[in-house]
Amino acid sequence: MARYTGPVCRLCRREGEKLFLKGEKCNKSICPITVRTLKKRGLKPGQHTDARRRNMSEYGTQLREKQKAKRIYGILETQFKNYYIKASKQKGISGENLLKMLELRLDNVVYRLGFGRSRTEARQIVRHNLIRVNGKKVNIPSYQCKKGDVIDVRPNAADFQRFKDILEVTSGRLTPAWITSNPENLSGTVLQEPTRDMIDTQVRETSIVELYSK
Ligand code: SF4
Repeated sequence: MARYTGPVCRLCRREGEKLFLKGEKCNKSICPITVRTLKKRGLKPGQHTDARRRNMSEYGTQLREKQKAKRIYGILETQFKNYYIKASKQKGISGENLLKMLELRLDNVVYRLGFGRSRTEARQIVRHNLIRVNGKKVNIPSYQCKKGDVIDVRPNAADFQRFKDILEVTSGRLTPAWITSNPENLSGTVLQEPTRDMIDTQVRETSIVELYSK
């Protein structure tokens, strides 16, 4: 599946806010979306709505929310739309179903468990055959995890210096309530499917649904 391979900070600049595409690195001063940039746009620190967007049409706002979600989860248009189609056919609220499916992707679960510094790195780890689901090797980043799935790093890969470096960076990260992580043996379990209040992704999923249902 194709994916965006260009500079990621450009994507945040386009959205006018920090999307944290480089994980913990984004908290450092290297981030180009600095207090100065926000000030230039007439924003206060912590306020992320771009001043230019105050006059944006309804369509424009909905489009930006969709682009943001795609960028955060590293998904291109066709696959993202397929997620929406599946989500809208499921019971419950389509927007929440959509976010739930994105969260349950294996690359995202690996990221949430702290075994990748960013979703991009988590995706690469999955692609490199380093991850097992219920004891079986799975190298498909879009694999949908289910309640009860046990995700771990392959035993011979767990000693890699790379994972030691990753855990050093991600040790302070909060694990969401729907999964449990055991960094000592590089494993984790999906306790339940996430509900909206367990997902901290800053997107308005209702706008995405409105856009696609036009
Ligand atoms: Fe976005 Fe992180 Fe780059 Fe800042 S450092 S622009 S949050 S990817």
